[in-house]
Amino acid sequence: MPELPEMEHYRSQLSPLLCGQKITGVTVNRAASINEPIDEFTAALVNRIVLFVERRGKNLLFHLDDGHRLLLHLMLGGWLAYGEEGPKKDSHFQVILTFGDGLSLYFGGLRLGYLHRITAKAAIEQLKELGPDPYDARLTLEAFQKRLGQKKGKLKTTLTDQRFLAGIGNCYSDEICFHAKLHPAIAANTLDATATERLYHSIRHVLTEAKEAGGYMEHPLTAEDTLTGGYNNLCKVYDRMDEACYECGTPIKFETLTGRKMFFCPQCQKDS
Ligand SMILES: [Zn+2]
Repeated sequence: MPELPEMEHYRSQLSPLLCGQKITGVTVNRAASINEPIDEFTAALVNRIVLFVERRGKNLLFHLDDGHRLLLHLMLGGWLAYGEEGPKKDSHFQVILTFGDGLSLYFGGLRLGYLHRITAKAAIEQLKELGPDPYDARLTLEAFQKRLGQKKGKLKTTLTDQRFLAGIGNCYSDEICFHAKLHPAIAANTLDATATERLYHSIRHVLTEAKEAGGYMEHPLTAEDTLTGGYNNLCKVYDRMDEACYECGTPIKFETLTGRKMFFCPQCQKDS
């Protein structure tokens, strides 16, 4: 599932492409991906202008000039493409938005994911449970310490809890724990001050590194996009079961933690 770095990479690429563009065409191939009857959704979107693109956690919000938002969550397997025509046949995409310049934004893999047209008020309501963005300036070390101290769950479970922090999922929680040299199954509220500070800095370090490398999505957004997927070869533990740890050579261990995949180095990552 795309996480903060992937969605932020989409946002930074889409902003200059879409801002100020008028929607001139809407194709919906899967009604369940949207939240209105197809004709209503289409009629409401045609002639609207995209003002800007915002990211909240793993969500993208396309702000429209009538005050509405298009709320996108890609969930598992969703992806985006932009250009003259999709890399596959158009029918493979659940929703396609065409703009005044003749180029289109393609929404693929929206089986569990969705693109909902909602009011500004509904968007606030729908996202109100989300915790702070890891880059939020108000999330100081002190504020982070306080939040973490209140969590009773395991570290990985806490990091992937969208109410704790918005945007971290399975891959980056493992990478963050490895970078902070902390076992992902440690109880979150038992970290001492040094470990908490390490974790705080590791969160931003890993997410920034991933963002700058283009995240781990497989499909490039445009024909010119050569950055997407750059983080695939930079993962230190995620999806590296039995491969040697880059730090110590110990085979990376794979376990499940309340249904989630968990990759870690049993040597580098301490229980306490
Ligand atoms: Zn190691």
